Amino acid sequence: MSWQHRIQLALAQRRETGRMRQRTINHQGDARWIEINGQRYRNFSGNDYLGLSHDLRVIRAWQQGAERYGVGSGGSGHVTGYRAVHADFEAQLADWLGYSRALLFISGFAANQALIAALMAKGDRIFADKLAHASLLEAASLSPATLRRFSHNQPASLQKLLTSDGAAETLVVTEGIFSMDGDVAPLAQLHQLSQQANSWLMVDDAHGIGVLGEQGRGSCWQQQVKPELLVVTFGKAFGVSGAAVLCDDDTADYLLQFARHLIYSTSMPPAQACALQAALRAIQQGDELRQQLGENIACFRRGARDLPYTLGDSQTAIQPLIVGENQAAVTLAERLRARGCWVTAIRPPTVPPGTARLRITLNASQQPEDIDALLERLYDAQGE
Ligand SMILES: *Cc1c(COP(=O)(O)O)cnc(C)c1O
Repeated sequence: MSWQHRIQLALAQRRETGRMRQRTINHQGDARWIEINGQRYRNFSGNDYLGLSHDLRVIRAWQQGAERYGVGSGGSGHVTGYRAVHADFEAQLADWLGYSRALLFISGFAANQALIAALMAKGDRIFADKLAHASLLEAASLSPATLRRFSHNQPASLQKLLTSDGAAETLVVTEGIFSMDGDVAPLAQLHQLSQQANSWLMVDDAHGIGVLGEQGRGSCWQQQVKPELLVVTFGKAFGVSGAAVLCDDDTADYLLQFARHLIYSTSMPPAQACALQAALRAIQQGDELRQQLGENIACFRRGARDLPYTLGDSQTAIQPLIVGENQAAVTLAERLRARGCWVTAIRPPTVPPGTARLRITLNASQQPEDIDALLERLYDAQGE
């Protein structure tokens, strides 16, 4: 078999199973509106939960940062790419979230890969929630540790794994808010079980940071749990991009020795760190934004109660509307788009078979009329 043959075969299989992925160009977009092929849509697909990607305070900070520091960092943080603004932002994050240290990464995907690759050794175990993000499961299966998955949000299932015959070290892995279902992990129970078994808990709070808890400190703060390892990402509520790992001093020093993503990769542009500092301030002072988001969520859930679909058990910005059959979900998404609402249909294998859904995301930039428009079109789509 040749390379061409292998690639063509893989593509053919994708097409045959109706799972070919494609990108669409979003010509102009913010949290509220996007424009695709000359058509404007209300945006119910983004992760910019507080609308900060277009916040003028954040934009100005990035512009001023670029004028001061240039556009790129010029190297790995271990060479010349670590500036005072990186150090300051790391210290602010650590202080805000109650950890000794924070280390910046280029993305959440990279942070998860780096952390798991640097920590896990042969003979170790990773116990991950079944619905944990692809970046976590991918890192876990590439690592020399044994990966086992526990039932979604079921501490009893984790406990079973923890009481099975021991290994060297064990890492328990979960998300704070799950990206496809919008539900919240039982962090206190997971942490307690993990501590009893002398393991560490790693929480990826990509969807909780900025949105939940006092000052937007996230799912862990809200549940008063301090996992040994916390990953926060800046591509969602922060409206920018990048990530940080929060941990103790020794772990941070260890990662600086052994996390290849830090050593062999160009560090985040300093101007981006300036933008992130502005986004952090906006989040800390963001009670009004979070309140607006909360009202949008409540309004949507009230209005969607009588739809003939199952509304997920989610109080967060991620609102899954479970339709069931793949084709029905795709058709519904198409009908909504034809009427100016951009929603994404999510099908197996991303979600379990028979639970194809619309993944509707809400944000603080949306106005009551946007939520009303979506609900009206969801009801109308029945009649077609
Ligand atoms: C989005 C996401 C990531 C990846 O973060 P990026 O910064 O976009 O690479 C990791 N984990 C979870 C749970 C996510 O939702």
